[in-house]
Amino acid sequence: MAEDPIRVLNDKCVGCGLCVKACPFAAIALADGPEREGKKRKLALIDLTRCTLCGACVDSCKFDAILIKEKAAENAANLADYKDVWVFAEQAGGEFHSIAYEMLGAGRELADQLGSRLCALLLGSHVGGKATELIARGADVVYLVDKPELGYYQDEPYAAVITELVNRHKPNILLCGASTIGRSLVSRVAVATHAGLTADCTGLAIDPETRNLLQTRPAFGGNIMATIITPYHRPQMATVRHKVMKEPAVDTNRTGQTRVEDVAQALLASRTKRVNFVPEKESTINLAEADIIVSGGRGLQKPENFSIIRELAETIGAGVGASRAAVDADWIPYSHQVGQTGKTVCPKIYLACGISGQIQHLAGMSSSDIIVAINRDPDAPIFKVATYGIVGDLFTIVPMLTQEFKKVLGK
Ligand SMILES: Cc1cc2nc3c(=O)[nH]c(=O)nc-3n(C[C@H](O)[C@H](O)[C@H](O)COP(=O)(O)OP(=O)(O)OC[C@H]3O[C@@H](n4cnc5c(N)ncnc54)[C@H](O)[C@@H]3O)c2cc1C
Repeated sequence: MAEDPIRVLNDKCVGCGLCVKACPFAAIALADGPEREGKKRKLALIDLTRCTLCGACVDSCKFDAILIKEKAAENAANLADYKDVWVFAEQAGGEFHSIAYEMLGAGRELADQLGSRLCALLLGSHVGGKATELIARGADVVYLVDKPELGYYQDEPYAAVITELVNRHKPNILLCGASTIGRSLVSRVAVATHAGLTADCTGLAIDPETRNLLQTRPAFGGNIMATIITPYHRPQMATVRHKVMKEPAVDTNRTGQTRVEDVAQALLASRTKRVNFVPEKESTINLAEADIIVSGGRGLQKPENFSIIRELAETIGAGVGASRAAVDADWIPYSHQVGQTGKTVCPKIYLACGISGQIQHLAGMSSSDIIVAINRDPDAPIFKVATYGIVGDLFTIVPMLTQEFKKVLGK
Protein backbone atom coordinates (compact mmCIF):
# COMPACT_ATOMS: atom_id res chain seq x y z
CA MET A 1 0.00 0.00 0.00
CA ALA A 2 1.30 3.47 -0.89
CA GLU A 3 2.58 5.44 2.05
CA ASP A 4 0.71 8.64 2.95
CA PRO A 5 2.43 11.68 1.42
CA ILE A 6 2.36 13.42 4.80
CA ARG A 7 2.38 11.92 8.26
CA VAL A 8 2.73 12.77 11.91
CA LEU A 9 5.59 11.08 13.77
CA ASN A 10 3.77 9.94 16.91
CA ASP A 11 6.95 9.60 18.96
CA LYS A 12 7.81 13.24 18.34
CA CYS A 13 4.37 14.87 18.42
CA VAL A 14 3.57 16.52 21.77
CA GLY A 15 0.03 17.58 20.86
CA CYS A 16 0.87 21.27 21.20
CA GLY A 17 -1.61 22.26 18.46
CA LEU A 18 0.73 24.68 16.64
CA CYS A 19 0.14 22.82 13.38
CA VAL A 20 -3.63 23.02 13.89
CA LYS A 21 -3.35 26.80 14.04
CA ALA A 22 -0.93 26.96 11.12
CA CYS A 23 -2.98 24.86 8.69
CA PRO A 24 -4.80 27.20 6.27
CA PHE A 25 -7.09 24.37 5.14
CA ALA A 26 -8.40 23.20 8.55
CA ALA A 27 -6.96 19.79 7.72
CA ILE A 28 -5.43 19.06 11.14
CA ALA A 29 -7.12 18.32 14.45
CA LEU A 30 -5.91 16.99 17.79
CA ALA A 31 -7.12 13.51 18.60
CA ASP A 32 -6.56 11.06 21.45
CA GLY A 33 -3.33 9.12 20.84
CA PRO A 34 -1.96 5.98 22.47
CA GLU A 35 -1.02 6.44 26.14
CA ARG A 36 2.62 7.03 26.96
CA GLU A 37 4.00 6.08 30.36
CA GLY A 38 0.42 5.63 31.55
CA LYS A 39 -0.54 9.18 30.57
CA LYS A 40 -3.22 10.15 28.08
CA ARG A 41 -2.00 12.37 25.27
CA LYS A 42 -3.20 14.19 22.19
CA LEU A 43 -1.67 13.83 18.77
CA ALA A 44 -2.08 15.77 15.56
CA LEU A 45 -4.25 13.99 13.01
CA ILE A 46 -4.15 15.05 9.37
CA ASP A 47 -7.22 14.80 7.16
CA LEU A 48 -5.70 13.84 3.82
CA THR A 49 -8.86 14.77 1.92
CA ARG A 50 -8.32 18.40 2.95
CA CYS A 51 -4.54 18.56 3.04
CA THR A 52 -2.91 20.24 0.02
CA LEU A 53 0.66 19.46 1.14
CA CYS A 54 1.34 23.17 1.39
CA GLY A 55 3.88 22.51 4.14
CA ALA A 56 2.65 25.20 6.56
CA CYS A 57 2.34 22.61 9.35
CA VAL A 58 5.87 21.34 8.80
CA ASP A 59 7.23 24.88 9.11
CA SER A 60 5.18 25.50 12.27
CA CYS A 61 6.17 22.31 14.11
CA LYS A 62 8.92 22.91 16.66
CA PHE A 63 9.41 19.17 17.20
CA ASP A 64 10.03 18.02 13.61
CA ALA A 65 7.05 15.77 14.08
CA ILE A 66 5.49 16.16 10.64
CA LEU A 67 7.00 14.68 7.54
CA ILE A 68 6.06 15.41 3.98
CA LYS A 69 7.71 12.48 2.31
CA GLU A 70 7.94 11.31 -1.25
CA LYS A 71 5.22 13.58 -2.48
CA ALA A 72 7.24 16.73 -1.99
CA ALA A 73 10.32 15.11 -3.48
CA GLU A 74 8.26 13.58 -6.26
CA ASN A 75 6.62 16.93 -6.93
CA ALA A 76 9.97 18.69 -6.90
CA ALA A 77 11.26 16.26 -9.52
CA ASN A 78 8.12 16.71 -11.59
CA LEU A 79 8.33 20.48 -11.39
CA ALA A 80 11.33 20.40 -13.70
CA ASP A 81 9.09 18.97 -16.43
CA TYR A 82 7.10 22.20 -16.50
CA LYS A 83 8.51 24.82 -18.84
CA ASP A 84 7.44 28.02 -20.58
CA VAL A 85 5.22 30.91 -19.64
CA TRP A 86 1.72 30.78 -21.08
CA VAL A 87 -0.79 33.54 -21.58
CA PHE A 88 -4.46 33.11 -22.45
CA ALA A 89 -5.16 35.46 -25.38
CA GLU A 90 -8.76 36.47 -24.73
CA GLN A 91 -10.60 37.47 -27.88
CA ALA A 92 -14.17 37.92 -29.05
CA GLY A 93 -15.09 37.90 -32.72
CA GLY A 94 -11.41 38.00 -33.63
CA GLU A 95 -10.73 41.16 -31.60
CA PHE A 96 -8.31 40.75 -28.71
CA HIS A 97 -9.27 42.13 -25.32
CA SER A 98 -6.55 44.64 -24.37
CA ILE A 99 -5.86 42.48 -21.31
CA ALA A 100 -4.42 39.83 -23.66
CA TYR A 101 -1.72 42.28 -24.70
CA GLU A 102 -1.10 43.31 -21.09
CA MET A 103 -0.61 39.63 -20.18
CA LEU A 104 1.86 39.25 -23.06
CA GLY A 105 3.83 42.21 -21.71
CA ALA A 106 3.93 40.74 -18.20
CA GLY A 107 4.59 37.23 -19.53
CA ARG A 108 7.47 38.41 -21.71
CA GLU A 109 9.29 39.83 -18.69
CA LEU A 110 8.80 36.63 -16.69
CA ALA A 111 9.87 34.41 -19.61
CA ASP A 112 13.00 36.50 -20.15
CA GLN A 113 13.91 36.23 -16.47
CA LEU A 114 13.43 32.46 -16.57
CA GLY A 115 15.11 32.06 -19.95
CA SER A 116 12.01 30.28 -21.24
CA ARG A 117 9.56 30.77 -24.10
CA LEU A 118 6.44 32.91 -23.99
CA CYS A 119 3.48 31.04 -25.47
CA ALA A 120 0.01 32.41 -26.22
CA LEU A 121 -3.14 30.29 -26.18
CA LEU A 122 -5.46 31.25 -29.00
CA LEU A 123 -8.86 29.54 -29.03
CA GLY A 124 -11.67 30.46 -31.40
CA SER A 125 -13.13 29.92 -34.83
CA HIS A 126 -11.37 31.30 -37.94
CA VAL A 127 -8.82 33.07 -35.73
CA GLY A 128 -5.63 31.56 -37.19
CA GLY A 129 -4.78 34.84 -38.92
CA LYS A 130 -4.65 36.59 -35.54
CA ALA A 131 -1.61 34.61 -34.33
CA THR A 132 0.81 37.08 -35.92
CA GLU A 133 -0.62 39.87 -33.74
CA LEU A 134 0.29 37.87 -30.65
CA ILE A 135 3.80 37.24 -31.96
CA ALA A 136 4.18 40.96 -32.70
CA ARG A 137 3.31 41.60 -29.04
CA GLY A 138 5.94 39.22 -27.69
CA ALA A 139 4.80 35.59 -28.06
CA ASP A 140 7.39 33.06 -29.26
CA VAL A 141 4.81 30.34 -29.84
CA VAL A 142 1.05 30.49 -30.40
CA TYR A 143 -0.90 27.34 -29.57
CA LEU A 144 -3.92 27.57 -31.84
CA VAL A 145 -7.13 25.59 -31.44
CA ASP A 146 -9.45 26.69 -34.22
CA LYS A 147 -12.86 24.99 -34.07
CA PRO A 148 -16.40 26.13 -34.87
CA GLU A 149 -17.43 25.09 -31.34
CA LEU A 150 -15.03 27.70 -29.94
CA GLY A 151 -16.59 30.55 -31.97
CA TYR A 152 -17.65 32.31 -28.80
CA TYR A 153 -16.62 31.84 -25.19
CA GLN A 154 -18.22 29.00 -23.28
CA ASP A 155 -16.89 27.76 -19.97
CA GLU A 156 -16.91 24.03 -20.56
CA PRO A 157 -15.16 23.62 -23.94
CA TYR A 158 -12.68 26.43 -23.32
CA ALA A 159 -11.70 25.03 -19.90
CA ALA A 160 -11.54 21.46 -21.23
CA VAL A 161 -9.32 22.42 -24.17
CA ILE A 162 -6.92 24.44 -22.04
CA THR A 163 -6.76 21.68 -19.42
CA GLU A 164 -5.85 19.25 -22.20
CA LEU A 165 -3.12 21.57 -23.51
CA VAL A 166 -1.74 22.09 -20.00
CA ASN A 167 -1.53 18.32 -19.47
CA ARG A 168 0.00 17.88 -22.92
CA HIS A 169 2.67 20.60 -22.83
CA LYS A 170 3.16 21.32 -19.10
CA PRO A 171 3.57 25.09 -18.79
CA ASN A 172 5.44 26.42 -15.78
CA ILE A 173 3.26 29.54 -15.50
CA LEU A 174 -0.21 30.25 -16.88
CA LEU A 175 -1.50 33.83 -16.83
CA CYS A 176 -4.97 35.02 -17.61
CA GLY A 177 -6.63 38.43 -17.40
CA ALA A 178 -8.91 38.95 -14.41
CA SER A 179 -11.77 39.72 -16.80
CA THR A 180 -15.21 38.16 -16.46
CA ILE A 181 -14.18 35.43 -18.91
CA GLY A 182 -10.67 35.00 -17.53
CA ARG A 183 -11.87 34.55 -13.95
CA SER A 184 -14.45 31.98 -14.92
CA LEU A 185 -12.12 30.09 -17.23
CA VAL A 186 -8.88 29.75 -15.33
CA SER A 187 -10.46 28.74 -12.02
CA ARG A 188 -11.92 25.72 -13.83
CA VAL A 189 -8.54 24.88 -15.34
CA ALA A 190 -6.85 25.21 -11.93
CA VAL A 191 -9.29 22.76 -10.35
CA ALA A 192 -8.97 20.30 -13.23
CA THR A 193 -5.16 20.35 -13.13
CA HIS A 194 -4.89 20.46 -9.29
CA ALA A 195 -2.89 23.67 -9.57
CA GLY A 196 -2.85 26.70 -7.31
CA LEU A 197 -4.41 29.94 -8.53
CA THR A 198 -3.85 33.45 -7.26
CA ALA A 199 -6.69 35.69 -8.36
CA ASP A 200 -6.56 39.39 -9.15
CA CYS A 201 -2.81 39.96 -8.93
CA THR A 202 -1.43 43.46 -9.17
CA GLY A 203 2.22 42.39 -9.35
CA LEU A 204 4.19 39.44 -10.75
CA ALA A 205 7.89 38.69 -10.42
CA ILE A 206 10.33 35.79 -10.33
CA ASP A 207 12.09 34.90 -7.08
CA PRO A 208 15.76 35.00 -8.11
CA GLU A 209 16.66 32.16 -5.70
CA THR A 210 13.87 29.64 -6.11
CA ARG A 211 12.69 30.81 -9.54
CA ASN A 212 9.13 30.52 -8.27
CA LEU A 213 6.49 33.01 -9.41
CA LEU A 214 5.84 35.73 -6.83
CA GLN A 215 2.18 36.63 -7.10
CA THR A 216 1.24 39.84 -5.31
CA ARG A 217 -2.33 40.90 -4.61
CA PRO A 218 -4.26 42.95 -2.06
CA ALA A 219 -5.48 40.91 0.91
CA PHE A 220 -7.62 41.46 4.02
CA GLY A 221 -9.91 43.98 2.34
CA GLY A 222 -7.00 45.75 0.71
CA ASN A 223 -5.24 46.59 3.95
CA ILE A 224 -2.10 44.59 3.11
CA MET A 225 -0.39 43.36 -0.02
CA ALA A 226 0.22 39.60 0.10
CA THR A 227 2.82 37.81 -2.00
CA ILE A 228 1.79 34.25 -2.73
CA ILE A 229 3.92 31.40 -4.05
CA THR A 230 3.04 27.99 -5.43
CA PRO A 231 6.15 25.99 -4.54
CA TYR A 232 4.86 22.42 -4.87
CA HIS A 233 2.56 22.46 -7.85
CA ARG A 234 2.62 23.39 -11.50
CA PRO A 235 1.52 25.29 -13.43
CA GLN A 236 1.68 28.39 -11.29
CA MET A 237 -1.52 30.18 -12.24
CA ALA A 238 -2.57 33.76 -11.75
CA THR A 239 -5.18 36.16 -13.00
CA VAL A 240 -4.04 39.75 -13.31
CA ARG A 241 -6.11 42.90 -12.97
CA HIS A 242 -6.92 44.83 -16.10
CA LYS A 243 -4.85 47.97 -16.70
CA VAL A 244 -2.22 47.17 -14.08
CA MET A 245 0.38 45.89 -16.55
CA LYS A 246 1.50 47.90 -19.57
CA GLU A 247 0.76 46.70 -23.11
CA PRO A 248 3.97 45.95 -25.03
CA ALA A 249 4.62 47.86 -28.24
CA VAL A 250 3.84 46.16 -31.57
CA ASP A 251 6.96 44.80 -33.26
CA THR A 252 6.06 43.43 -36.68
CA ASN A 253 9.64 42.23 -37.20
CA ARG A 254 9.29 39.60 -34.47
CA THR A 255 9.05 36.03 -35.64
CA GLY A 256 7.41 33.11 -33.90
CA GLN A 257 5.80 29.77 -34.44
CA THR A 258 2.11 28.89 -34.67
CA ARG A 259 1.33 25.36 -33.52
CA VAL A 260 -2.07 24.08 -34.54
CA GLU A 261 -3.32 21.75 -31.81
CA ASP A 262 -5.98 19.13 -32.34
CA VAL A 263 -8.25 18.10 -29.52
CA ALA A 264 -10.79 15.31 -29.09
CA GLN A 265 -14.29 16.27 -30.20
CA ALA A 266 -15.62 15.29 -26.77
CA LEU A 267 -13.74 18.22 -25.21
CA LEU A 268 -15.75 20.67 -27.30
CA ALA A 269 -19.10 19.63 -25.86
CA SER A 270 -21.03 22.12 -23.76
CA ARG A 271 -24.13 21.74 -21.66
CA THR A 272 -24.95 25.40 -22.27
CA LYS A 273 -25.39 27.35 -25.47
CA ARG A 274 -25.66 31.02 -26.24
CA VAL A 275 -29.20 31.94 -27.21
CA ASN A 276 -28.61 35.60 -27.90
CA PHE A 277 -25.92 38.23 -27.43
CA VAL A 278 -26.98 41.64 -26.23
CA PRO A 279 -24.10 44.12 -26.05
CA GLU A 280 -24.09 46.31 -22.95
CA LYS A 281 -25.41 49.78 -23.72
CA GLU A 282 -22.81 52.20 -22.41
CA SER A 283 -24.12 55.72 -22.28
CA THR A 284 -20.81 56.90 -20.90
CA ILE A 285 -17.24 56.08 -21.92
CA ASN A 286 -15.97 52.75 -20.57
CA LEU A 287 -13.66 53.85 -17.75
CA ALA A 288 -11.20 51.00 -18.09
CA GLU A 289 -10.60 51.83 -21.76
CA ALA A 290 -10.78 55.67 -21.50
CA ASP A 291 -7.75 57.69 -22.62
CA ILE A 292 -8.74 60.59 -20.37
CA ILE A 293 -10.59 60.42 -17.05
CA VAL A 294 -11.89 63.27 -14.94
CA SER A 295 -12.58 62.09 -11.39
CA GLY A 296 -14.34 63.79 -8.52
CA GLY A 297 -14.10 63.15 -4.80
CA ARG A 298 -15.55 64.30 -1.50
CA GLY A 299 -14.26 67.79 -2.27
CA LEU A 300 -17.31 68.18 -4.55
CA GLN A 301 -19.43 68.44 -1.39
CA LYS A 302 -22.75 67.31 -2.92
CA PRO A 303 -24.07 65.16 -5.79
CA GLU A 304 -25.26 68.08 -7.95
CA ASN A 305 -21.71 69.37 -8.09
CA PHE A 306 -20.66 66.35 -10.16
CA SER A 307 -22.16 68.35 -13.05
CA ILE A 308 -18.94 70.41 -13.30
CA ILE A 309 -16.92 67.18 -13.57
CA ARG A 310 -19.31 65.82 -16.23
CA GLU A 311 -19.15 69.05 -18.23
CA LEU A 312 -15.36 69.04 -18.29
CA ALA A 313 -15.34 65.32 -19.18
CA GLU A 314 -17.81 65.85 -22.01
CA THR A 315 -15.82 68.76 -23.39
CA ILE A 316 -12.59 66.80 -23.65
CA GLY A 317 -14.12 63.37 -24.45
CA ALA A 318 -13.20 61.86 -21.09
CA GLY A 319 -14.75 59.23 -18.82
CA VAL A 320 -16.05 60.23 -15.38
CA GLY A 321 -14.41 58.61 -12.36
CA ALA A 322 -14.96 58.99 -8.63
CA SER A 323 -13.40 58.24 -5.28
CA ARG A 324 -15.05 55.77 -2.96
CA ALA A 325 -16.06 58.60 -0.66
CA ALA A 326 -18.18 60.09 -3.45
CA VAL A 327 -19.64 56.67 -4.32
CA ASP A 328 -20.36 55.79 -0.68
CA ALA A 329 -22.17 59.12 -0.30
CA ASP A 330 -24.38 58.06 -3.24
CA TRP A 331 -23.29 60.99 -5.38
CA ILE A 332 -22.43 58.73 -8.32
CA PRO A 333 -22.89 54.99 -9.05
CA TYR A 334 -20.29 52.41 -8.05
CA SER A 335 -19.45 51.67 -11.71
CA HIS A 336 -17.49 54.97 -11.66
CA GLN A 337 -15.37 54.15 -8.62
CA VAL A 338 -11.64 54.10 -9.19
CA GLY A 339 -9.36 52.32 -6.77
CA GLN A 340 -8.60 49.14 -5.00
CA THR A 341 -12.21 48.13 -4.56
CA GLY A 342 -13.29 49.84 -7.77
CA LYS A 343 -11.81 49.93 -11.26
CA THR A 344 -8.12 49.97 -12.10
CA VAL A 345 -7.51 52.52 -14.82
CA CYS A 346 -4.49 53.54 -16.82
CA PRO A 347 -5.47 56.51 -19.01
CA LYS A 348 -3.11 58.91 -20.74
CA ILE A 349 -4.44 61.71 -18.52
CA TYR A 350 -6.14 61.39 -15.11
CA LEU A 351 -7.59 64.52 -13.54
CA ALA A 352 -8.27 64.14 -9.82
CA CYS A 353 -10.56 66.90 -8.53
CA GLY A 354 -11.12 67.18 -4.79
CA ILE A 355 -9.59 63.76 -4.14
CA SER A 356 -7.10 63.49 -1.29
CA GLY A 357 -5.15 60.56 -2.79
CA GLN A 358 -5.45 57.84 -0.16
CA ILE A 359 -3.52 54.66 -0.91
CA GLN A 360 -6.66 52.75 -1.93
CA HIS A 361 -7.50 55.37 -4.55
CA LEU A 362 -3.91 55.51 -5.81
CA ALA A 363 -3.96 51.71 -6.23
CA GLY A 364 -6.46 52.17 -9.04
CA MET A 365 -4.94 55.06 -10.98
CA SER A 366 -1.28 55.68 -10.12
CA SER A 367 -0.03 54.04 -13.32
CA SER A 368 -1.81 56.71 -15.43
CA ASP A 369 0.65 58.41 -17.80
CA ILE A 370 -0.11 61.97 -16.64
CA ILE A 371 -1.86 62.81 -13.37
CA VAL A 372 -3.28 66.27 -12.81
CA ALA A 373 -4.46 66.97 -9.26
CA ILE A 374 -6.69 69.84 -8.20
CA ASN A 375 -6.91 70.23 -4.45
CA ARG A 376 -7.05 73.17 -2.07
CA ASP A 377 -4.81 71.41 0.46
CA PRO A 378 -1.16 71.74 -0.65
CA ASP A 379 -0.25 68.78 1.59
CA ALA A 380 -2.80 66.39 0.07
CA PRO A 381 -1.07 63.06 -0.72
CA ILE A 382 -2.39 63.14 -4.30
CA PHE A 383 0.29 65.73 -5.07
CA LYS A 384 3.00 63.12 -4.37
CA VAL A 385 1.91 61.14 -7.44
CA ALA A 386 0.73 64.08 -9.54
CA THR A 387 2.60 65.12 -12.68
CA TYR A 388 0.94 68.56 -12.43
CA GLY A 389 -0.62 69.91 -9.25
CA ILE A 390 -3.03 72.83 -9.02
CA VAL A 391 -3.53 74.09 -5.48
CA GLY A 392 -6.84 75.90 -5.27
CA ASP A 393 -10.60 75.71 -5.17
CA LEU A 394 -11.96 73.18 -7.65
CA PHE A 395 -15.19 75.17 -8.01
CA THR A 396 -13.13 77.94 -9.62
CA ILE A 397 -10.54 75.86 -11.44
CA VAL A 398 -12.67 73.11 -13.04
CA PRO A 399 -15.14 75.48 -14.78
CA MET A 400 -12.19 77.62 -15.85
CA LEU A 401 -10.54 74.61 -17.49
CA THR A 402 -13.83 73.67 -19.18
CA GLN A 403 -14.20 77.17 -20.66
CA GLU A 404 -10.59 77.19 -21.83
CA PHE A 405 -10.88 73.72 -23.47
CA LYS A 406 -14.14 74.76 -25.14
CA LYS A 407 -12.35 77.75 -26.66
CA VAL A 408 -9.35 75.73 -27.81
CA LEU A 409 -11.48 72.88 -29.18
CA GLY A 410 -13.94 75.28 -30.81
CA LYS A 411 -16.93 73.90 -28.89
C1 LIG B 1 -10.37 48.38 2.18
C2 LIG B 1 -10.58 49.74 1.60
C3 LIG B 1 -10.79 49.87 0.24
C4 LIG B 1 -10.97 51.14 -0.33
N1 LIG B 1 -11.14 51.25 -1.67
C5 LIG B 1 -11.20 52.46 -2.24
C6 LIG B 1 -11.30 52.63 -3.65
O1 LIG B 1 -11.41 51.67 -4.41
N2 LIG B 1 -11.32 53.88 -4.14
C7 LIG B 1 -11.23 55.00 -3.36
O2 LIG B 1 -11.25 56.13 -3.89
N3 LIG B 1 -11.16 54.87 -2.02
C8 LIG B 1 -11.15 53.64 -1.45
N4 LIG B 1 -11.11 53.55 -0.10
C9 LIG B 1 -11.31 54.76 0.72
C10 LIG B 1 -10.08 55.62 0.86
O3 LIG B 1 -9.33 55.19 1.96
C11 LIG B 1 -10.48 57.10 1.08
O4 LIG B 1 -11.34 57.17 2.18
C12 LIG B 1 -11.17 57.73 -0.11
O5 LIG B 1 -10.42 57.52 -1.29
C13 LIG B 1 -11.28 59.24 0.13
O6 LIG B 1 -11.99 59.84 -0.90
P1 LIG B 1 -11.74 61.38 -1.23
O7 LIG B 1 -10.32 61.58 -1.58
O8 LIG B 1 -12.76 61.77 -2.23
O9 LIG B 1 -12.14 62.08 0.13
P2 LIG B 1 -11.23 62.82 1.20
O10 LIG B 1 -10.14 61.97 1.66
O11 LIG B 1 -12.16 63.37 2.21
O12 LIG B 1 -10.59 64.00 0.37
C14 LIG B 1 -11.29 65.08 -0.11
C15 LIG B 1 -10.26 66.06 -0.68
O13 LIG B 1 -10.92 67.13 -1.29
C16 LIG B 1 -10.19 68.33 -1.03
N5 LIG B 1 -11.12 69.44 -1.17
C17 LIG B 1 -12.19 69.72 -0.40
N6 LIG B 1 -12.83 70.79 -0.91
C18 LIG B 1 -12.14 71.21 -1.98
C19 LIG B 1 -12.30 72.26 -2.91
N7 LIG B 1 -13.32 73.12 -2.83
N8 LIG B 1 -11.39 72.38 -3.91
C20 LIG B 1 -10.35 71.52 -4.02
N9 LIG B 1 -10.16 70.49 -3.16
C21 LIG B 1 -11.04 70.33 -2.17
C22 LIG B 1 -9.66 68.13 0.37
O14 LIG B 1 -8.53 68.94 0.56
C23 LIG B 1 -9.34 66.65 0.39
O15 LIG B 1 -8.00 66.42 0.04
C24 LIG B 1 -10.95 52.30 0.49
C25 LIG B 1 -10.75 52.14 1.86
C26 LIG B 1 -10.56 50.90 2.41
C27 LIG B 1 -10.32 50.76 3.88
